[in-house]
Amino acid sequence: MNAIPEKLYGIIGHPLGHTMSPALHNSGFSMFSLPSVYMAFPTPPEKLADFMTAFRTLPLYGASVTIPHKETVMEYVDRITPRATLVGAVNTLYWDNGVLVGDNTDVLGFMAPLIDSPATYSRALVLGAGGAAKAVLAGLKELGVHNVTICNRTAHRAASLAVQFDVDCVDWDARGIVEADLVINTTPMGMAGDHVDKTTFAEEMFTGKGTAYDLVYNPLETVFLRTAKAAGWETIDGLHMFAAQGAEQFRLWTGENIPHDHIRNLVTDMLNL
Ligand code: NAP
Repeated sequence: MNAIPEKLYGIIGHPLGHTMSPALHNSGFSMFSLPSVYMAFPTPPEKLADFMTAFRTLPLYGASVTIPHKETVMEYVDRITPRATLVGAVNTLYWDNGVLVGDNTDVLGFMAPLIDSPATYSRALVLGAGGAAKAVLAGLKELGVHNVTICNRTAHRAASLAVQFDVDCVDWDARGIVEADLVINTTPMGMAGDHVDKTTFAEEMFTGKGTAYDLVYNPLETVFLRTAKAAGWETIDGLHMFAAQGAEQFRLWTGENIPHDHIRNLVTDMLNL
């Protein structure tokens, strides 16, 4: 008979829809023989306060936080890490000696495939100005990429992030003429479903040489990445970020490191089902 789990973890958001996080973390608990379980806790906004009270009383040892709670959850924690402060959003809750900490592992997740790369980038172009773009801008800052330009379909959102992160901003229609050697798609264009055939960056916009980084990971090869590859650019798919942000959550909770390749294989298998 399996041991009864002693520690609870989970993801809060609303609606939660189909999330890969339970598979990722439960597979980590099996890998390290930990008596723990990770569950989906669909939590509508009006229930967040109750959930956070329960978090302090039940054997809850950590949680992932997703839309729409990433900002609002910040008022319920005891400490916010510098990364989460910079982004203005929390995606991870963990305990540090009885202190409830709010962190943002999306920043490290975004940086992970770039940290070891020998390439240095002269200018990064960020497409989109939603929640994920903030983690990207924080990551670029931490990586020391000084020349960064942001653009967004709704101009004022890009303008606001440009001020917050002290980067340049151009009109959405001018994105193709920015001379960038790292172009990052942070929009859902290319994602499985209605947007699968769409891209934010057309063929003629990939000039010179560079790296295209898509945050979308379903499918793994988006139109954006396929077009980039055809133009001779290097590509990075969104599963690198997803695996790294999840592995970092697991490390914060357990001290153990799930190999990124293990997560890649797990998620790839699930996407191919
Ligand atoms: P979000 O806050 O809703 O922002 C969406 C962004 O996409 C906005 O800037 C929006 O522009 C833009 N956009 C939407 N439709 C567009 C269109 N038709 N043309 C041009 N721009 C469009 O979403 P998010 O949380 O930032 O997430 C964005 C994507 O990143 C999602 O696909 C998500 O799955 C992915 N993501 C991946 C990871 C990972 O680990 N790989 C982590 C986080 C997010 P407007 O302001 O004009 O609406």
